[in-house]
Amino acid sequence: MHIALHGKSPMPGASANVNFDGHEIRRTTLSLDPNRLPDMPELMIAGPGELHEEDLSILGSQLMAHYGDVWTQLHADALAALGRFLGAADIPYVIPGTGTTCLDAAYFNLFEAGQKVVVCDTGYFGQRSKELALAHRLEVVEVPVEVGAPIDPARIADVIDGAHGVVTVHVETATGVRHPIEEIARVAHGSGAVYMVDGIASVGGEKVNVDEMELDCLVTGTQKGLESPPGLGILALSAGGRARVEARSERPDSWYLDLKIWDKYRTEWGSWHPHPVTMPTALVMAMYSSIRRILDHGLDAWIERRAALAQKVRAGLTELGLDLVPEEGAGANLVVAAWADDPAAIQAHLLDNGVMISGGLTPTAGKAIRIGLMGRTATEEHVDRVLKLIGEALA
Ligand SMILES: *Cc1c(COP(=O)(O)O)cnc(C)c1O
Repeated sequence: MHIALHGKSPMPGASANVNFDGHEIRRTTLSLDPNRLPDMPELMIAGPGELHEEDLSILGSQLMAHYGDVWTQLHADALAALGRFLGAADIPYVIPGTGTTCLDAAYFNLFEAGQKVVVCDTGYFGQRSKELALAHRLEVVEVPVEVGAPIDPARIADVIDGAHGVVTVHVETATGVRHPIEEIARVAHGSGAVYMVDGIASVGGEKVNVDEMELDCLVTGTQKGLESPPGLGILALSAGGRARVEARSERPDSWYLDLKIWDKYRTEWGSWHPHPVTMPTALVMAMYSSIRRILDHGLDAWIERRAALAQKVRAGLTELGLDLVPEEGAGANLVVAAWADDPAAIQAHLLDNGVMISGGLTPTAGKAIRIGLMGRTATEEHVDRVLKLIGEALA
């Protein structure tokens, strides 16, 4: 397979034509003719995952009106399915943007400037939570977390006094570590704080149930465990989160991300245009198609299968002599990370063979490989092939 587009991927801090490892980025003139698009490697990166073949035709269909009887019914069905998927009786919000759009929405609607929040430095996306909190002018108390270890809820309890909220990732994509969200929720609620979870790399691959786990606010995106195209953010509230949103003293400093605006359109325009902006209808339908596949399979069984696949990757990498980033028992199901002396060389060998995996991200940048188990390529056959290629690269 000829790889024209992704010779080396540019990374944060990269200068114009060189990526963060100092490798030159190959550039070519690309065709947009649908029959001559560049060949892409198969994606086994830490997100997004490739789409399932059955969902592709939805994206290739003619545009649908984002209002009227047909759309209103489809939209309602999609959101109801999503609510079942997330274990949220309060119908989730689906907002054009990405997962981060809804992280921003969560901060806007749960907190008010000057309030104290506890965040955990789990890695790149834990640090992102802190950046968002600072952007929202919150007082941030940061809990350090050892690389590879899950968050210790007792460390949050130590600093929670007076905090309005606790914010953590569920799965830290930079390390492939799963964090104990149920225990953290109990710690947060024990001191009256609201708990907000970044579940962008966990939903669809890990057990997540908003109401049962009392996750006041769960945020996710469409392109990782939901195995659909990027372009939508998702935000779900438990009863506790709903109460917090309703109890605000004033509206947030955003119109687009004010959940009360979205509520207003749901109620007042619900029968023909249940959202305040033009919805990307194809993205909503592709998401619906994908989550319906997972629900039809059985969500628990789907997650167990993904857990078994992640275990197969971990066992295979260990057998090849690599050390896993997560400590025993903390490894996540959608992304597996292992330390490597020369991750770029492994990635390059895989690319030459038509498969793309990820390198590291803070604190694993330049020191690890990460394999994503999402979408069409999350199969035993693909895992066997990736392990074989990594073995060749190491030999
Ligand atoms: C991918 C990811 C994000 C960023 O999501 P976008 O959809 O790109 O905004 C945030 N948090 C985690 C844990 C992620 O894995």
